[in-house]
Amino acid sequence: MKKRLFTPGPTPIPEKVALAMAEPIIHHRNPEFGEVLTRVNENLKYLFQTSQPVLTLTSSGTGGVEATFVSLFSPGDKIIAVNGGKFGERWVKMPQAFGMNVVEVRTKWGTAPDIDSLKAVLLKNADAKAVYLVHSETSTGTAADIESLAKMIRENSSALVCVDGITAVGAHEFRFDAWGVDVCVTGSQKGLMIPPGLAFVALSKRAIESMKTSTLPKFYFDLRKALKSHENNDTPWTPAVSLVVGVDRALEMIRSEGIENVWSRHRRLSSALREGLSALGLKLFSDSPSYAVTPVWMPEGVEWKAFNKTLKVDNGITIAGGQDDYAGKIFRISHLGYYDELDMITVIAAIERTLSVHKYAFDPGVGIAATQKSFLSHLL
Ligand SMILES: *Cc1c(COP(=O)(O)O)cnc(C)c1O
Repeated sequence: MKKRLFTPGPTPIPEKVALAMAEPIIHHRNPEFGEVLTRVNENLKYLFQTSQPVLTLTSSGTGGVEATFVSLFSPGDKIIAVNGGKFGERWVKMPQAFGMNVVEVRTKWGTAPDIDSLKAVLLKNADAKAVYLVHSETSTGTAADIESLAKMIRENSSALVCVDGITAVGAHEFRFDAWGVDVCVTGSQKGLMIPPGLAFVALSKRAIESMKTSTLPKFYFDLRKALKSHENNDTPWTPAVSLVVGVDRALEMIRSEGIENVWSRHRRLSSALREGLSALGLKLFSDSPSYAVTPVWMPEGVEWKAFNKTLKVDNGITIAGGQDDYAGKIFRISHLGYYDELDMITVIAAIERTLSVHKYAFDPGVGIAATQKSFLSHLL
């Protein structure tokens, strides 16, 4: 049976990317690798829509965010962290672990951060050094309006606008420079379509400036070192060479598709899938759907573990479950990265087959038909 992955990281790897990574490894101090890194650095700027440097670190996405905390701030610095899910929660706990002063702004799981409430918190905390936001909260499949939030933060404070773009970059429209973002992090196993192991960090001029006064302890994750090496298309430590070779290919694919087309493909795929799921009578979880991952309430009478097993064992399909309070209550289907329209038809067909095994009542084919119709309406 063919195995198909529909999880929000790792995501499927295009064949040509996998083949590039399987080539004999090159040495990272060779000019050959310098050429790869030069191209990667340029194409990352295109991906983030910035003329600022985007650093490539060997770590998962979380390491990339950690690098931003330790490199930009000092103990006791005040950080506002917006928490509407598992990842937002991580950006509350992490700066606390570093002895920072964290003001947490909670939003209900499945709803986007509210601009006015964040503004009120910001005005009460004029000394905040940064606001950490999650663009696409993967645990809840919920997208934030980063453009408006960044504008509001810029207008009302001098706090740095820091974005966890880990499942947003390469799925949602994102313009680092035009939107006035200061820090954005993404990871390799999400929209970049390569295995886990690299983090990418974009830094504005203001963010780079604040590295000069930062006193938190750091060594491996010192972005000043990474930035200095970046100027020479180099890295301070041995990078994950094969992954950099892979991301070079993946970025070429994104570049040739065109970033706007990549964004609109994600919007189209996610919207067609939502149509299909709704036509099956399933209830969607998020008020502000992410284009990377779609969370759905488990229908009454169907048990998550058994549902997941049928999907995996009988259909070769891996999806994700709910986390924390929503474990067993929701399931999540990802469409982030290397997916096309027929992949959505496949996954909705597998959901139908699985629901049918678990005695959920519906008209066979209605989900597939709604997904198909959504795609065909774009072709007309
Ligand atoms: C996956 C993910 C992370 C964590 O990245 P790791 O690569 O697992 O360290 C952080 N934020 C979001 C929104 C994610 O989806």
